[in-house]
Amino acid sequence: MSDDAGLQALREAARLSPDNLPLRQHLAGLLLAKGYLADAEAEFRAALVLAPKNPDLTAGLAEAFVRQSAYGPALAALEPLLAEPGYPPRLGILAARALIGEGDMGRAAYRYFEAINRDASLVDAELATRLTPGGPASPWPTPAAPPAASPWPTPAAPPAASPPPASPPPPSAPPPAASSAPPPAAPPLYAAPAMAGQQPVAGGPATRESTSEVERAGLTFADVAGMEAVKEALRMKLLLPIQQPDLFAAYGKRAGGGVLLYGPPGAGKTHLARAAAGELGAAFVNVGLADILDMYVGSSERNLHATFDLARRNRPCVLFFDEVDALAGRRSDMRQAHTRQLVNQFLAELDGVDQSANEGVLVLAATNAPWYVDGAFRRPGRLDQPVFVPPPDQAARAAILRILCRDKPLAEMDFDAVARVTEHFVGADLKGVVDRAVEAKLQQSISAGRPIPLATPDLLAAARTVRPTAVREWMATARNYVMHANDSGAWDELMPWVKGKW
Ligand code: ADP
Repeated sequence: MSDDAGLQALREAARLSPDNLPLRQHLAGLLLAKGYLADAEAEFRAALVLAPKNPDLTAGLAEAFVRQSAYGPALAALEPLLAEPGYPPRLGILAARALIGEGDMGRAAYRYFEAINRDASLVDAELATRLTPGGPASPWPTPAAPPAASPWPTPAAPPAASPPPASPPPPSAPPPAASSAPPPAAPPLYAAPAMAGQQPVAGGPATRESTSEVERAGLTFADVAGMEAVKEALRMKLLLPIQQPDLFAAYGKRAGGGVLLYGPPGAGKTHLARAAAGELGAAFVNVGLADILDMYVGSSERNLHATFDLARRNRPCVLFFDEVDALAGRRSDMRQAHTRQLVNQFLAELDGVDQSANEGVLVLAATNAPWYVDGAFRRPGRLDQPVFVPPPDQAARAAILRILCRDKPLAEMDFDAVARVTEHFVGADLKGVVDRAVEAKLQQSISAGRPIPLATPDLLAAARTVRPTAVREWMATARNYVMHANDSGAWDELMPWVKGKW
């Protein structure tokens, strides 16, 4: 029987016994392997009706989507599983591929590195190359770029065009040029420099410039709606010690140290950090994963050190780490020594070489997954104050909408009415609503030949087209940790939230 005849027979068998899950799964896998992607997609979908949330089927469906360049549907298929603690790491790799397809390199890097931290056998040199700015060949490939011919980068190639402009080639020896050979099973992606106790890497040929940029934030807390308790916590921890140093010195407290902002994605952590810098008149350095993570031995640690140095040169400075769980993950979860070394380096930088090293450097770190952050970060002087950034309640949603609309031409607005119909929307979702309403209004204004002000029905109409992001899923995950992994009381603050109706 030819291959295709075999396939045909399987299809026929599946048609005759549509509830036979193993059969359908086998057929779907075969279709995928043979490149019949649309058919594989349909078959995986049908099988998922029989076994919703089955990780193998979800992975198959997501792969079928990714190979058809349908990145959004791939992510939509993966997201419910990715929201569960302990999801299979290979789903993270698929998510990374889809996110690259969408051009979202930051989140792709996060998913990829998290996955390989949990399962080193998933290391994929081609993906790592695409996710590593300043890597060889194409440092920041266009989303649709086909996979590189060689699975292992050619280290000797000069970095192409753009980022990172200020960064010299990695000083540590990259893999030798005999690199058309496949990578070893688990090549070190960012192994450690020699660590001398608490001494960060510094000086000599190992120094490098940070790729992060120094901003002067134009925002203040007045631009952050709601979150009064969060703002108060930040004022006490970050702002007052600098604004009133004598008072704090009298109590033996000094400025510095950090805060871990955590909460659902889009709730305003980055916005808040930027506003804290503006409130303080401090410089703001926004560090993304792509600024730090690097596949070459020791380079991630050097990037981290360079970033802290940049902040120290620009003090007072708010140094903001987004998605910090990927840099500060629990070492007990990590199978590879070199990933643990990055965490050690981070701890060493937070502690500073001496008492005054981080004077005036305020570290704010944000995470959607605080449960993955290594407990050592909570010690005094480090990210010792976890602060929950909650999803906005109705009053806060109205206030956010008011801020988002304040510089637009407005008719009479009933922000409360919009807030009422946007339950479970976070700040980022509300921004999406306003952006959509503005786009629609612009088109109307162009047709009418005159500016038409934005009105309540515009926002209500836009709200109907925007799906709130993952607050529900986030709360479900948080509930698991609060209920089943809260021995130390670390998540007590979340208790009333997860018990709410989501
Ligand atoms: P996160 O870092 O938690 O994922 P962001 O800070 O990126 O979320 O929020 C996305 C956008 O939502 C911000 O750029 C801002 O425009 C808006 N936003 C979020 N929260 C607020 C708030 N409390 N007040 C005003 N705007 C907000």
